[in-house]
Amino acid sequence: MGLHTPTLLVANALVMSLSGALLLYSWWRGREERTLLWMGALLLLAVPGIIMNALRGMGFDYVPIILGNIILLLATAMHWTTMRVFAGRPLYWPGLLAGPLLWTLLCLWPTFYDSVELRVPLYSLLVIAYMLASASELWRSRWQLDVSIAPALVLMACHGGFYSVRLFLDPGAPLGASSSSAFFAVVVIESMLYAVGAGFITLSMVKERAEAHYREASLTDALTGIGNRRAFTQAAQQLLERSAGEPRRLALLLCDLDNFKQVNDRLGHPAGDWVLRRFAEVLVQHMGPGAVFGRIGGEEFACLVEAEHGEALALAERIRKDFSASVREQGPLSTSIGIATAAIGGLDLSRLLSLADAALYQAKHEGRDRVVLSELQVQLNEVGQTERRRRFR
Ligand code: GH3
Ligand code: MG
Ligand code: MG
Repeated sequence: MGLHTPTLLVANALVMSLSGALLLYSWWRGREERTLLWMGALLLLAVPGIIMNALRGMGFDYVPIILGNIILLLATAMHWTTMRVFAGRPLYWPGLLAGPLLWTLLCLWPTFYDSVELRVPLYSLLVIAYMLASASELWRSRWQLDVSIAPALVLMACHGGFYSVRLFLDPGAPLGASSSSAFFAVVVIESMLYAVGAGFITLSMVKERAEAHYREASLTDALTGIGNRRAFTQAAQQLLERSAGEPRRLALLLCDLDNFKQVNDRLGHPAGDWVLRRFAEVLVQHMGPGAVFGRIGGEEFACLVEAEHGEALALAERIRKDFSASVREQGPLSTSIGIATAAIGGLDLSRLLSLADAALYQAKHEGRDRVVLSELQVQLNEVGQTERRRRFR
């Protein structure tokens, strides 16, 4: 079965136009992600380049050799720019225009223009250089991507690899729609696969980043920037499950700012917000690497930390004192903290929370600005101490 080159060219032009239009439409709907704009534009730009390259051997070769290749090199350079835009880096016009400009200047030199042995290696080297630059830009964004990074890098490696092979093939292999060369059919198919792959992979990169962003936003408290109730609950449950059966102890600290309604009334809501942010900052300063913490209500914060009850009490005291000191300029402000520790096996998060809440209620009842350990915990500690005393008697 022979490949009909003109049909392949028409298919290539249609597929690229459709992919480009789809990407531009996706960009236009949100008008936020310029990565889509650049990728859509480059696919549409490449279409006339492909069509011009098909006109070889028809008597006006300067069109494909000069204009067609300038367009295709510019489209390739735009792939690199697309990766820069995705990485949040500014446009770099010299880099974008360097390849097409070099090609234009060399084409003004008759020796170069007339020599396919010079043109093919230079074109191939420029494509390889832009693919390497695209891959290195993409590598900068690897922390934002989990799934799409591998296909994107493979695509760039394949496209660059194709042109590396091209360096070693007969540069005089006939090109153009009128040629019946199987080689030209391969060039057209490769460019079609590359263009469609680049379009869809870029779309998937953008989608993956947006999903991660929304996931992150749904777990972050907008005012303080720390985890919200959902984030705390998820992470705390995971930590409790992971530590089940392990000897380490976990302590839950439930903090509630004292008389916060009055703080708002006295200082105003914006100042109240500032106080909440300060409290979150104090928490961040005191939390170790494995700690789970978040703002679980208006002026309520929770922390699940790895600590024996003595360490948990000391930590809560430090938080309480540091918070009051850090907001001293706004007047006397304080927090009450209730603690429950998971020393007793089989305690789930909701049970721990209700024990810590009872301790917090007691702290409020006893006059606020204090730390109270859960009643059940105190009883257990006393039992433990009595048993230890009995053992040493
Ligand atoms: P207590 O010592 O018993 O905890 O008294 P309280 O006034 O702190 O408790 P209460 O639950 O009655 O009031 C909490 C207040 O926290 C009410 C609400 O206006 C305020 N608050 C909740 N969320 C925010 C917020 O995001 N910003 C500000 N500025 N205030 C908030
Ligand atoms: Mg409260
Ligand atoms: Mg309160």
